[in-house]
Amino acid sequence: MKKYGSERWLPVLCAIFVTNVAAQSLVITNARIIDGNGQVIDRGSVVVRDGVIESVTPGDASATAAAERTIDANGRTVMPGFVDAHRHIITGNPDDWLTNRAAAQMQEFLAAGFTTVLSAIDPPQILQARQRIASGAMKGPRLFAGTIIPLAAPFPDTAPTRGDPARTDPSRPPGRSTRPAPAIPREATIKAVDNAANLGYDYLKTVIVTTPGGPEVDTLKLIIAEGRKHGMPTITHAVSVIDTLAALDAGPDTLVHTPHIGNLADDPAAVRRIVEARIPMTSTLAVFVPHFDDNNQPLFRDAQPFPWNTISSAGQGPVNARVLWQAGIETYAYGTDTQWPPKQSLADELRALQVVFSPRDIVQMLTRNAAKATLHGDQFGTLEPGKSADMVILEGDPLTDVTALFNVVTTIKQGEVVFQR
Ligand SMILES: [Zn+2]
Repeated sequence: MKKYGSERWLPVLCAIFVTNVAAQSLVITNARIIDGNGQVIDRGSVVVRDGVIESVTPGDASATAAAERTIDANGRTVMPGFVDAHRHIITGNPDDWLTNRAAAQMQEFLAAGFTTVLSAIDPPQILQARQRIASGAMKGPRLFAGTIIPLAAPFPDTAPTRGDPARTDPSRPPGRSTRPAPAIPREATIKAVDNAANLGYDYLKTVIVTTPGGPEVDTLKLIIAEGRKHGMPTITHAVSVIDTLAALDAGPDTLVHTPHIGNLADDPAAVRRIVEARIPMTSTLAVFVPHFDDNNQPLFRDAQPFPWNTISSAGQGPVNARVLWQAGIETYAYGTDTQWPPKQSLADELRALQVVFSPRDIVQMLTRNAAKATLHGDQFGTLEPGKSADMVILEGDPLTDVTALFNVVTTIKQGEVVFQR
């Protein structure tokens, strides 16, 4: 795994490319602090040194903590930077994206308050963007990237699906296969994992749709075991209850969707198994909730026509999410699974989450829980000493009104102001 701690030294090594070196020290005063662990300080200060939080305290620390820069928050909210634990980033030609569009898109994330983004599947150009950001050559959120490793070979007699697979989802009846999918030779899977590690990806992404007597769970076990040899966690897409339970038989590190096919409210045994597995799960609820264009046309995910055969998921996803929450799921995290602009994506996901969750719980999902779903929750996601100084300053109180999350004034990443409205 790439540890951000070592990335902090990259600016020294790549000084020629450096445009912005993190401020050595920073004090934010006069702030209403939401620490992400459930505590609120009505008027307090955050002290940052070398990109790391030194203290979070009530009162004005600016007199005692000498700092090169002081920001008076004027009573605004200071909270952890947002984390999207399931995105897709690159659109169109990847080289064109990297050369002409990446910088502006990364700035959109910072302007929306995102300081960390997990790209679940993107071409290798995402790794170059990750490197540019880590070295200071480009401003952007901390990026983590996964690449897909298949669990079964395609059926030789079936044409591959085109376009967004969620629209023609083989997880959903009547699309589910009634015969076993062909297996992939073990050596090919091992080689695919080695290749992903050599390229420098952070995660192995898998999509599980089981077939009767098929090889999916065994292949997933092999990928998880091979990934561990490289220190690469496996993140798994499962969208039905059946496939989520099958994934648990192999034990991936995160589940990147809430199951939205199958009713968990009627299946307490399944709920117990999912909760007891203690695997982080990302929300991605808004994918199946229509949003609308200027001509009142219902849209699916990234502005495609809405597939009405999936409409049950618009309700079933939030219902299953709340059932898991009531049963005590340990880490339920914000994730969008979109390529949509970050602010619109945030608005869509918040709309879906608000059906069943309070603003207070949503704030925790967007910060601490999403950080845990990247498997780097020890490094960022809350405001506490020793964590990376990833913060936003915003107008309003998101603990009572989630629309305050749209009012980011300042974004700070590793102690550096990377966006100022
Ligand atoms: Zn995805």
